[in-house]
Amino acid sequence: MAKEYFNVLEEIIPTLVTVMLNSPDYQTVCRCQKCTVDIIALTLNSVPPRYVTSNEKREIIFRLYNQNFMRTTLNKHIISAIHVVRKNPNHD
Ligand SMILES: [Zn+2]
Repeated sequence: MAKEYFNVLEEIIPTLVTVMLNSPDYQTVCRCQKCTVDIIALTLNSVPPRYVTSNEKREIIFRLYNQNFMRTTLNKHIISAIHVVRKNPNHD
């Protein structure tokens, strides 16, 4: 059986993390695969999931998170995750 439920934030957060790591403010942050997935996982753990069971609901959540105040909230979680991973990277 195909998976019929999906956390929309698993789609949104990796994109936002990539955008943020490519922005001028974060050029000194390690952007290797390990640090990137650690930042994504930490962020996903810090925000409540948004599970949906249909494409219509997925669209609704996407529109919700496209609003500036929601982006600002998610970006705050991402910035905290970047600071944690930067202090304790999973490699030398
Ligand atoms: Zn790294």
